[in-house]
Amino acid sequence: MNNNILVFIEQRGGKILPASFQLLALANELATTAGGQAEACVLGDSVSGLTDAIAAQGAKKIYTAEAPDLGSYAAGPFTTALAAVLDAADPRTLLIPTTAMGRDLASRIAARKRAALAIDCMEVALDGNDLVVTTTMYAGKFAAKFKLCGSVLQIATVRSNAYSATDPQAGAAADIEAVSLGFTDGDNRATCTEIASTSSGVKDVTEADVVVSGGRALKSEDNFKIMHELAEVLDGAVGASRAACDAGYQPHTRQVGLTGKVVTPRLYIACGIDGAIQHLAGMRGSKVIVAVNTKADAPIFKVANYGCVIDLFTLVPLMTQELRRLQG
Ligand SMILES: Cc1cc2nc3c(=O)[nH]c(=O)nc-3n(C[C@H](O)[C@H](O)[C@H](O)COP(=O)(O)OP(=O)(O)OC[C@H]3O[C@@H](n4cnc5c(N)ncnc54)[C@H](O)[C@@H]3O)c2cc1C
Repeated sequence: MNNNILVFIEQRGGKILPASFQLLALANELATTAGGQAEACVLGDSVSGLTDAIAAQGAKKIYTAEAPDLGSYAAGPFTTALAAVLDAADPRTLLIPTTAMGRDLASRIAARKRAALAIDCMEVALDGNDLVVTTTMYAGKFAAKFKLCGSVLQIATVRSNAYSATDPQAGAAADIEAVSLGFTDGDNRATCTEIASTSSGVKDVTEADVVVSGGRALKSEDNFKIMHELAEVLDGAVGASRAACDAGYQPHTRQVGLTGKVVTPRLYIACGIDGAIQHLAGMRGSKVIVAVNTKADAPIFKVANYGCVIDLFTLVPLMTQELRRLQG
């Protein structure tokens, strides 16, 4: 086992998830403390075209694993391929983005490798050889620090936007190692036969830098148009409270919260959302929170950096108009 920090680069259809690059910046930081280097691995049916972009983000060595069975995410082949990469790389630390794929893969690879695992970390540091991570508990009410100890592989999945990616260095070189794979019948008990996108190109709330979220106060799907207009001008995504999704104003894929998605954008604008604990669980890690609510004592104001006690139907179109004017 060496002191290198390995990052799992998540890609779909050749498009790399930005959170992967944020983890490469973190890996370089940790590698300085650990006395190792930041490394990356990327799995897919054809990934060799991605290595330049990964090297530009600071990976000193890149492990690639290619096979037709890795064309879309399936737990069996991905776990086996990542296990083969880990055998080749032998790092002490593995960082994985907290995504649906990352959560699934991290728990499986931890079981396969008998590794220590922490899920959905907001902060990651090293204390000697031990990974010290901060995660949230009880729907975000508490922040808990854990130390992963022992001479085993230590794995952390890290929340998107918890760290910033560095500027890409064009022409940066990395060693490339293609890992050979051997799948068995047992590796592919469930095969993905088709993926149909339901988002029609709309930005996902977990990936956007800005999330404009609406609650029950929007009253209809039609009224959400003003949220979409504001999101568009800010190049962001539209989110919603569960009440708004349950009422059919927005699809559940946009729901933020305990039973929805956890988001950590740079800017979260909550309009007509009361701030129930289950909603806060999904957005209180946002860097800057702006709340728009007619009720001055709405709980959302307790977590907001900026609060506007005003009717959202008055303020939101004005914000859009003013931003458009500023953008010329
Ligand atoms: C097990 C469980 C899981 C849950 N998971 C989630 C989850 O993942 N995500 C989630 O969001 N909720 C979740 N909930 C539901 C949660 O408890 C709340 O019921 C929900 O978040 C309320 O949504 P809301 O704030 O949009 O609606 P409301 O509580 O009805 O609040 C509407 C707010 O809009 C304000 N308002 C009204 N009119 C205007 C106006 N014109 N302009 C500005 N403000 C206005 C009101 O003052 C009020 O504060 C969960 C609940 C349970 C029990």
